Amino acid sequence: MAFAITQTCCTDATCVSVCPVNCIHPTPDEPDFGRTDLLYIDPATCIDCGACADACPVDAIFPAGDLTGPLRVYEEINAEYYAGRDVLADVSVAPNFHRWAPPSFKRVLPSDFAPLDVAVVGTGPAGMYAVEDLLLHTSARVMLVDRLPVAGGLIRYGVAPDHPSTKKIGETFARFHDHPRLRLRLGTQAGPELAERHDAVIYAVGATEARRLGVPGEDLPGSLPAATVVGWYNGHPDVEPDAVDLSADRVVVVGTGNVALDIARILTADPAALAGTSIAPEALARLRSGKVREVVLLARRGPETAAYTRPELLALAARGDLVVDAHSPVAAVIDGAAPGEKAAWLQGVPRERIDWSAPPPDGRRRIVLRFHSAPVEFRGDTEVRAVVASGPDGDVEIAAGRVVRAAGFRGAPVPGLPFDEAAGIVPNEAGRVAGRPGVYVAGWIKRGPSGGIGANKACARETVGSLLEDAVAGRLPVRRRGARARLLGRA
Ligand SMILES: Cc1cc2nc3c(=O)[nH]c(=O)nc-3n(C[C@H](O)[C@H](O)[C@H](O)COP(=O)(O)OP(=O)(O)OC[C@H]3O[C@@H](n4cnc5c(N)ncnc54)[C@H](O)[C@@H]3O)c2cc1C
Ligand code: SF4
Ligand code: SF4
Repeated sequence: MAFAITQTCCTDATCVSVCPVNCIHPTPDEPDFGRTDLLYIDPATCIDCGACADACPVDAIFPAGDLTGPLRVYEEINAEYYAGRDVLADVSVAPNFHRWAPPSFKRVLPSDFAPLDVAVVGTGPAGMYAVEDLLLHTSARVMLVDRLPVAGGLIRYGVAPDHPSTKKIGETFARFHDHPRLRLRLGTQAGPELAERHDAVIYAVGATEARRLGVPGEDLPGSLPAATVVGWYNGHPDVEPDAVDLSADRVVVVGTGNVALDIARILTADPAALAGTSIAPEALARLRSGKVREVVLLARRGPETAAYTRPELLALAARGDLVVDAHSPVAAVIDGAAPGEKAAWLQGVPRERIDWSAPPPDGRRRIVLRFHSAPVEFRGDTEVRAVVASGPDGDVEIAAGRVVRAAGFRGAPVPGLPFDEAAGIVPNEAGRVAGRPGVYVAGWIKRGPSGGIGANKACARETVGSLLEDAVAGRLPVRRRGARARLLGRA
């Protein structure tokens, strides 16, 4: 019996480094890494030692034989990755001596041995992976600041409360809060003094501004950005407890990424099942008294290229309340999909031709996936009453009392740093902020709002690597009175 990786995997590759027989792939050295929904264990070579399960920060790994209910399919999903694949053929196992740079014998400066003082802004995954790298692999002293009173970034205020295993990774990061070389300042906005007092500053401030849809009625009351709804159920201090009104029977969510699926799942969940989770008590009370019976997920694209990942769709489908709006050509695309293709994931999901002029059916709450359909207009006098959505058979008006815009995020400008308006990020090269020596970025503000928690590990490591390269090359500005300045004779 082998072990298997399941739904909550955030692809941080911690398990890869502890596996004694290299049977977890793709590894960070392989071309597929960062492109798969999870990592996978090869059942043919796993020796059942359990080391990976002990190391996984989000409890995603189990003996395949112990999987029950909706998790059972992961035994097959892990094995599927290896069907007909020669993993070693993907990797260059022989060292390529021609690719190695010529040896260089750089003169070592005394400054190389003085501990660096680094400020890290943001306690989300990117900030914490940078902190981990600095504390474990250098002698740097770290000042860690976050504007919020509670650490964790989106792990605390973004990840859905019914994903407690994913939220557990926050405990792994929190171990560093008490490190003797770290000072933690919560409830503190980053200001220009950080750069004056530190050798380098890493901004890992995330990117949770709403991307605009550009449709009429977008700003009507009742049209909410995804960040408001997510912040509301997670008790974010910036979001009022009554920010989300659930008195309408139908809610439209624009988007089908994992955040859109999170919102649909929480709004239609049995409140009793959420009672033992970290959900904000006010949100739970509103869900209990709310009237929502249907959440419609509007997908601009078709089922073959929908934005969600397989684990999140499987979790939704397993609840039994997911329906696909079977307007043309959706049914044919799903039925015609070959095993393993994205559209084939929907083959067991019920379909219905939905009459959008009728109210949602009575009884059980449900989620409707409507593909090939983009919002054209939000209608209403004093607040949203309907969404006009496009489709291959023409526009339809969907009566809805609330709309959630979950079509993506973008970064906000950081005072004092350049900003790329089109991409919504701070322009950078391998984390170095253009024209600002000693200033770096990591995470979503560096590369844009995509990728799960684990994707920030390699991203933060690249940034810390750039910082250390600059320190060794003497490219960090000397601007404070301290050990480095004295060694360089400038204090
Ligand atoms: C709703 C949602 C749910 C998600 N769920 C999952 C999931 O289940 N699994 C998964 O793998 N990935 C999930 N992700 C993706 C994951 O959360 C991101 O990859 C990750 O959080 C990005 O990390 P970050 O550090 O760049 O940003 P963030 O996590 O946003 O952290 C940024 C931090 O910077 C702080 N900050 C911002 N500005 C300032 C300032 N001026 N001064 C001081 N501090 C500041 C913020 O308060 C915040 O704590 C989710 C994302 C979202 C939006
Ligand atoms: S159980 Fe052991 S051998 Fe199997 S994947 Fe995990 S670490 Fe590797
Ligand atoms: S979360 Fe990390 S340690 Fe756990 S299974 Fe995924 S890659 Fe491995």
